[in-house]
Amino acid sequence: MPMPLARELLVASVAALGLASSPAQAAFSIDLSFSGLTPAQQSYFAAAKSFWEGVITGYQGSVSLGGIAISANGAVIDGVGNVLGSAGPDSLFTTGGFAYVATGEMSFDTADIDNLIVQGSFTDVIRHEMAHVIGFGTMWVPNGVYADGSGRYTGSNALREYRFEFNQPAATFVPVELGGGAGTADGHWNEVNNGGGNTGLRDPLGRDMRFELMTGWLDTPSFVSRTTLASFQDIGYTVALAAVPEPETYALLLAGLGVVVLRARRRA
Ligand SMILES: [Zn+2]
Repeated sequence: MPMPLARELLVASVAALGLASSPAQAAFSIDLSFSGLTPAQQSYFAAAKSFWEGVITGYQGSVSLGGIAISANGAVIDGVGNVLGSAGPDSLFTTGGFAYVATGEMSFDTADIDNLIVQGSFTDVIRHEMAHVIGFGTMWVPNGVYADGSGRYTGSNALREYRFEFNQPAATFVPVELGGGAGTADGHWNEVNNGGGNTGLRDPLGRDMRFELMTGWLDTPSFVSRTTLASFQDIGYTVALAAVPEPETYALLLAGLGVVVLRARRRA
C-alpha cells in the first residue's frame, strides 16, 4: 500500500554564509548526527550516505563548501502508516548562481521505523529523505527550475534525461506531483491517483515511474532514475550519472549494434 513519504520542511530564510571562493571544485560529503534513534536504527543511514556521496561528486563553479550537515531524528509524527518521514534544509547559502543547502534535518516517525526495517524499506525511506535535504524538491524554486503549483519541472539536465529515459522525446517539462497535500505536492515526481496506480511512464527496464524513489509515495522495489540524478545538476551539484548501472535495454541496443557490425565484417 502506498504511503506518503514526507512533509518536507520548506525553509524560507536564506543564510548568506561568507564563503571563500576557490577555483577547484569542492567535494561533496554528508555529515550525519543522530537523536532519538537507536544504534541499530542509525546503522541504516550509512548506505544512504554512501549512495548520495557516490553520485553527487561536488559543486559546480567555485564553491568551497565541503558538504551538508544533516541531523537525523526519530520523532513522533502521526502513528503507524501515513507520513513516514519528513526532511528539508535548515540553512541555505547562495553562491555561483545557485542556492545550496548548508545544514538540514530528517525526521522519521518512530511508529514506523521498525516496520520499515522488517519490510526492508527503511534504507529507501532514508535515501528519499536525504535527497530532500540535499535539495530535491526543496531547492527547486530557489534555483529557478520549478514554480509552485505548476506541476512542471523545467531544469534542463533532468528534462534531458527524462525525455530519453522515459521515452518522452517531446516533453517540455518533467511532471511534478500536485496531489497529496502540502509536503507531497510540489516536491516529488508525479504519480497518479495519489499513488494509487501506475503512471504509464516506463524506463528502459519497464519500471513504472511510481516505483521511482523520488515520487511522493513509497512503492517497492524502488529505483533511482537518471532523471533524479540529473536534477541535482540543475541545482548546482556535479553528478556522476554513470554511477547508475546502464539499463539492460541500452546494453541490448549496443549488442544489436555489435551484431550489425559483425555481419558487415563477414560480408566484407
Ligand atoms: Zn518526499
